[in-house]
Amino acid sequence: MQTLDTFNRPLRDLRISVTDRCNFRCTYCMPKEIFGPDYTYLKKDEVVSFEDIARLARVFVDLGVNKLRLTGGEPLMRRDIENLIDMLANIPGVDDLALTTNGSFSPKRVRSLKDAGLRRMTVSLDALDDPTFKVMNDVDFPVEKVLEWIDASAELDFQPVKVNMVVKRGVNEHSILPMARYFKERGHILRLIEYMDVGNSNGWRLDDVVSAKEMVEHVNTELPLEASDPNYQGEVARRYRYKDGSGELGIIASVTQAFCVDCTRIRLSADGKLYTCLFATKGHDLRALLQDGANDDEMRQAIQTIWTQRNDRYSEIRAENTSEKPKIEMSFIGG
Ligand code: SAM
Ligand code: SF4
Ligand code: SF4
Repeated sequence: MQTLDTFNRPLRDLRISVTDRCNFRCTYCMPKEIFGPDYTYLKKDEVVSFEDIARLARVFVDLGVNKLRLTGGEPLMRRDIENLIDMLANIPGVDDLALTTNGSFSPKRVRSLKDAGLRRMTVSLDALDDPTFKVMNDVDFPVEKVLEWIDASAELDFQPVKVNMVVKRGVNEHSILPMARYFKERGHILRLIEYMDVGNSNGWRLDDVVSAKEMVEHVNTELPLEASDPNYQGEVARRYRYKDGSGELGIIASVTQAFCVDCTRIRLSADGKLYTCLFATKGHDLRALLQDGANDDEMRQAIQTIWTQRNDRYSEIRAENTSEKPKIEMSFIGG
């Protein structure tokens, strides 16, 4: 089944935030000044259960979703996430089951994720040198441990591993080339991400954004690149091949080259609210519907109505957006 929104975009990808908590305090996502000791996270009983997530996922698959991604917060902070992966991997129609993690846990865990049925691994890493990485994660976490996680993932056939690097001007631009070289040699796909104005707490300024164009030109000076075609409709990363045939690089240009026209994503937050855009100001409370005893048909109907009314295209209209409404934090809605 295909469910289309008001711009004829099909519903294809569901990103599931399993927790709003994280052990990092990346300055662009959960800055310490806001996410400090007094910050109120969701309580245990406010977080949507694995059973409910799996039930919702089945309904989403009926409506055309074939890709699931677990995210957060830090998804590995959610206890026994392997049980959820097992449930989701067994849903007929799920072609892709991926996880985005900061790679800070014991690499032994990679095995249990794989055994549970995880198919793809995306790891976030913003620099190859400790001083820069530590400035960005703000909890003194070393690069080496994340590299160990990436190695363990590659060894267990999560190949290629995707590595997300958010680039912030004046902070980690100098790490672009070392990162590109390092991951090219190992056959992983580095994805350079423009720093986005998600949430309200990261103090975003356009001046801090290094544009996709600048990033490509910079890599190209040493490692010649050529553009290649997207793998599928809705792929947000622009793909580039290294001309020497040694692999590829992705660029996520959410600020300077918006991709709303192809956006097939929907997001479920850790408290069971549904958001039709990363920059949404309001969610739809699916958990409440479940608790009111809605059956699968009623859930399907509710989600279908939400998607068919969708008209989001925040990144395309960012420049003219003067809304004062608070946006939802990325750690809450899921990146
Ligand atoms: N904790 C996990 C991690 O860091 O991989 C998963 C959640 S995190 C919110 C998902 C992705 O969003 C990460 O790759 C992160 O770098 C990216 N992200 C967070 N804040 C961002 C921002 N302001 N601009 C661009 N990307 C951002
Ligand atoms: Fe945590 Fe990921 Fe946000 Fe960093 S980007 S603070 S690791 S949720
Ligand atoms: Fe999709 Fe919203 Fe991002 Fe546009 S701004 S690509 S609609 S999530």
